[in-house]
Amino acid sequence: MTVKIPFDYHMHSNNSCDCRVTMAEMCQSALQKGIPEIAFTEHFNRKPEDMCFDKYVPAPFFRDIEASREKFGPQGLTIKAGIEVGEMHLYRAEVDKVLDAWPYDVVLGSLHWNNGESIFERSYFQKRDALAAAREYFTELAQMVEAGGFNIMSHMDVIKRMGYQVYKHFDITEYEELVRPVLAACIRQEIAPEINTSALRMAVNQTHPTLEAIRWYREMGGELLSIGSDSHRPDQLGTGLDKAIEIAKEAGFTQLTKFAGRKVQEFVAI
Ligand SMILES: [Zn+2]
Ligand SMILES: [Zn+2]
Repeated sequence: MTVKIPFDYHMHSNNSCDCRVTMAEMCQSALQKGIPEIAFTEHFNRKPEDMCFDKYVPAPFFRDIEASREKFGPQGLTIKAGIEVGEMHLYRAEVDKVLDAWPYDVVLGSLHWNNGESIFERSYFQKRDALAAAREYFTELAQMVEAGGFNIMSHMDVIKRMGYQVYKHFDITEYEELVRPVLAACIRQEIAPEINTSALRMAVNQTHPTLEAIRWYREMGGELLSIGSDSHRPDQLGTGLDKAIEIAKEAGFTQLTKFAGRKVQEFVAI
């Protein structure tokens, strides 16, 4: 049986500094794959060392969103205006100014830097052991979530992308007491964790996160949940989301969360 994918809430277009494809190409891919709703979640980073620092501009992004809605809306595609904000807890005032000035539907919060160091650099992991990396990363992630201001917590264990290449191993159950405070903060702040499928396309070959963490979240009373492919190319769009839905169901979820106007819009059955 093919799984019906209700939405893909994590993707990029050439409004992100690390992506070359147009919104139209991504929209066409969504239609071809039968995914009825997508959110463009472009990188917005205020850390000066970040490769995308100062590259994000809301006006052309919203022009592209409007044009895409006009063209692809009548074909049955719902297009949400999203954004992926890096290290929001550190740049809250300037980020809020942008979020409040434009009609965003959904805001993703991401931690790509831990205590000022890039977690996509090999050197971050060479300097510390796996436990120290996890402790430092999840501690700051919990702080970021607790500070709130966004709807979806992206790729909660993104440290495993590069960490796996250095340590050749990642098992989230080894970090349960570090991850639970992050999930508790999500529940308090009404932030939906995301099952992000991008690392299925990488050496680690796991979803962000794996089933165990989604199960902890559910047991703790978590209700909001999102899925996203974190695609930067049309062929990546939606990939692995069937698996993400399987994980959600196995963890006890019967529905996923749609957002509009930076609020929960409705729940959709899976
Ligand atoms: Zn990210
Ligand atoms: Zn992303």
